[in-house]
Amino acid sequence: MSSGKINVSVENIFPLIKKFLYSDHEIFLRELISNATDATLKLKHLTSIGEAKVEYGSPKIEVKIDKEGKKLHIIDQGLGMTADEVEKYINQIAFSGAEEFLEKYKDSAKDSGVIGHFGLGFYSAFMVASKVEIITKSYKDEPAAHWTCDGSPEFTLVPHDKTERGTEIILHIADDSTEFLEESKIRELLTKYNKFMPIPIKFGTKQEALPKPEDAGDDYKTEYVEVDNIINNPSPAWTKQPSDLTDEDYKNFYRELYPMQFEEPLFNIHLNVDYPFNLTGILYFPKLSHDLQIQKDKIQLYQNQVFVTDNVEGIVPEFLTMLKGVIDSPDIPLNVSRSYLQADGNVKKISNYITKKVSDKLKSLFNANREDFEKKWNDIKIVLEYGMLSEPKFYEKAGDFVLYPTTDGKFYTLAELKDALKDNQTDKDGNLVVLYASNKDAQHSYITAAKDRGYEVFLFDSPIVSHLLQKLEMDNEKLTFARVDADHLDNLIKKDENQISKLSDEEKENLKNVIETVVPKENYSVQLEAMDSQAAPFMITQPEFMRRMKEMSQSGGGGMFGMGNMPEMYNLVVNTNSELASSILSTENSDAKSALVKQALDLAKLSQGLLKGEDLTNFVKRSFETLK
Ligand code: ADP
Ligand code: MG
Repeated sequence: MSSGKINVSVENIFPLIKKFLYSDHEIFLRELISNATDATLKLKHLTSIGEAKVEYGSPKIEVKIDKEGKKLHIIDQGLGMTADEVEKYINQIAFSGAEEFLEKYKDSAKDSGVIGHFGLGFYSAFMVASKVEIITKSYKDEPAAHWTCDGSPEFTLVPHDKTERGTEIILHIADDSTEFLEESKIRELLTKYNKFMPIPIKFGTKQEALPKPEDAGDDYKTEYVEVDNIINNPSPAWTKQPSDLTDEDYKNFYRELYPMQFEEPLFNIHLNVDYPFNLTGILYFPKLSHDLQIQKDKIQLYQNQVFVTDNVEGIVPEFLTMLKGVIDSPDIPLNVSRSYLQADGNVKKISNYITKKVSDKLKSLFNANREDFEKKWNDIKIVLEYGMLSEPKFYEKAGDFVLYPTTDGKFYTLAELKDALKDNQTDKDGNLVVLYASNKDAQHSYITAAKDRGYEVFLFDSPIVSHLLQKLEMDNEKLTFARVDADHLDNLIKKDENQISKLSDEEKENLKNVIETVVPKENYSVQLEAMDSQAAPFMITQPEFMRRMKEMSQSGGGGMFGMGNMPEMYNLVVNTNSELASSILSTENSDAKSALVKQALDLAKLSQGLLKGEDLTNFVKRSFETLK
């Protein structure tokens, strides 16, 4: 029997470990299973190079709960350790590792959520166990060893009669950690952290139906056998070559990742890089729900098939955090804080690589089947538009596949759009005017008016579109965007012949005065325009610039423009060539005059969706009166 004192400066390191990693106790299981996996893969390697002359076989890792004995067992069939190795790897190296780790991070406890990932290894067992035993038999021809430690720096190390190769870790679960004796808890942890680890993990057994024999009669009763319950898929799709996977394989893997998700992904992107860093993974474009916040944090980060986190902020460019899938990289430093991560050169490269890969894929999807791409546009546009705004590298490539749909469901690229509009839709300075609507129903009358003139009207309905248009205008010479209700069309788009006003200057002055007595000045500025007599007599518009600034300040970045809360200010455009304008002027009775103006204003408000509350009630009442 040998016993001793672990050489450590901190008198009792275990309470410290426990306290320090308080929020992350559950990672002990991941650490122990990682060690079991490492030990098994090391043996595989040693047998493959002829260094270990033993049969590798088909080893598995077993997790077993002994509820009465209050013990949790983790058993592997890996390379095991000799007594000397236990002395070296467990007493010295692992311990000094744990100590060093604590030294380094004890001051940054605030960051503990992140530090919890990796670094503590074997000793994390003491977060949940009052006593830990290791029974291990090396693949080398040496007796098994039995190490015991009760959480103080004292340990015992004695021989053991174990004959099968491998290591068994026995945790005597502490009184405050009995949740880890619950089957459901362990199952949850195994599913969370170990679902895709490379060695099969057995947790209990299950009944499995035997195949029905060919000669079975009608009265055949299904027979069952008891088989190992393997909780993981040791070779998940991302570890395979894209050429070995079918579309169906990718979809199946998506279901495996998100069992509760019933919607199929739109498409996937297989990541595979080994220089200048290692990274594999599969990203999926999901159908986006409207709640983008809920959508986030769906990409899972793995390190060599061990789950690390589903917070990939800083590793994946922000606009892609709306995607789903997995990323696996041994090169992402995990035991560091987020701010460090963001400054890390490697991590930046990973982020750039992912951006590039995503734009390449989008381009090839677009080229391969544009029709299909157009069908998916509505579901992916938010991610792409956000990407254009936030990621310069993505913006550069976006011209190849980003689409601009019309209200009639036609799709243009930016280049196509410029080409299509250049002859028919320019303003007096020669700028291309892209007319757009943000809501087909709300702006229906304006859209119709524009289309009646043969103009193309686009439909841009994402919440961030005003930011995007602003950017596109800045980067494209002679390109402007104007919502269909930004001004009346004659002002937006140059017309050859000028309309001659039917009214004299005096009549116009008169008309303006009448209108201004009825229309609230603080919200409307009255503009008289000579237009086609068929055009709407009264029309409400809101200058593009004003409205866009207001939208931008509402959807974030507000401080940037310093606009604060701007008042609602509209233009009331009155068509002096309309019959209504003449009628107003020729009405003698001043009450009747006002009533005409009031009704016309309300109609204009109605078609802009601005007539609400009491005004709407009164309008409806008044309109019924006139029907009598
Ligand atoms: P790390 O895994 O980062 O090396 P750990 O503290 O988790 O650190 O483990 C320390 C060492 O103990 C390992 O490097 C390994 O040599 C040894 N070890 C731990 N668990 C096992 C095991 N199940 N089988 C064989 N060796 C193990
Ligand atoms: Mg380890």
